[in-house]
Amino acid sequence: MRIVVSGAAGFIGSHFCDRLLAEGHTVVGLDNYLTGAASNLAHLADEPRFRFVRQDITEPFTVDGSVDAVVNMASPASPKDYLDHPIETLDVGSTGTRRMLDLAREKGARFLLTSTSECYGDPEVHPQPETYWGRVNPVGPRSCYDESKRFAEALTMACHREHGLATNIARIFNTYGPRMKLDDGRVVPAFLGQALDGAPLTVFGDGSQTRSFCYVSDLVDGLYRLMLSGERFPVNLGNPHEMTILEFAERIRRLTGSHSAIEFRPLPEDDPRQRCPDISKARALLGWEPRVQLEEGLRRTVEHFRRAAGIAIT
Ligand code: UDP
Repeated sequence: MRIVVSGAAGFIGSHFCDRLLAEGHTVVGLDNYLTGAASNLAHLADEPRFRFVRQDITEPFTVDGSVDAVVNMASPASPKDYLDHPIETLDVGSTGTRRMLDLAREKGARFLLTSTSECYGDPEVHPQPETYWGRVNPVGPRSCYDESKRFAEALTMACHREHGLATNIARIFNTYGPRMKLDDGRVVPAFLGQALDGAPLTVFGDGSQTRSFCYVSDLVDGLYRLMLSGERFPVNLGNPHEMTILEFAERIRRLTGSHSAIEFRPLPEDDPRQRCPDISKARALLGWEPRVQLEEGLRRTVEHFRRAAGIAIT
């Protein structure tokens, strides 16, 4: 297949491009580098089946030639990034998604949207199944991300219903791995960076809020299976192994052998109290579930951060 991927220079986007290329596909990657990085695609410089175009998908654009699939992954995704770029986040979820859907329609291609567990907001139902409609503050600081993704889902379903477009929607839960930015503010790079530096681990609130962490290769495998499926409604992709953020801080200390202290900081506004995917649907429909254990995934991520720090220093 010839596949167009927006957000190709992002953390998950670049891994997804790698997977598509490994499966023998040809990829056109789009990114405006708002939060992505050219270094995430540097290893593809000599890959003849990969072409990169620097493109803001909220602006008009065309892609030459035939296209079989359009994958819309472009968006700031860490709370720090979308709080720094709230308007761009709303624009890419709305106008950007519209332009990618139009491209799929023009080319007669299938379409995959990467959405988010943030659609569930601060949930009252736990773990969260796809049938739960969520509890989102529409005017809070996180609303720029939550509502842009909810809008993107609605637009995707409208194009499916109105035009018969073959669409898929993935709801991605917390994902980690190599190529995350050390300074993107998310808890995995934050704690790992702090532990490796011997700095205090900054736990927000009392650390009793929960998350579960999916290694990026597992996530990408779920996305790939979903893209090939006929499922039109959202599918959760994430790791159901849930823990509190305080427990997570302790695991990071153990894994890195760090003696860092734990420092408590104020809980950000609207930070979800609990989050854990119900992945029964992905299991049944895609035969998918995460395989990489947290310790193993974190070890591979630490390796990446050590190498990246080495390159930055020399
Ligand atoms: N968090 C924390 N310390 C940090 C960064 C994040 O305690 O230095 C917490 C944050 O408040 C949230 C959880 O870790 O409860 C996950 O945050 P992240 O930004 O990784 O993603 P989110 O799940 O909020 O989108």
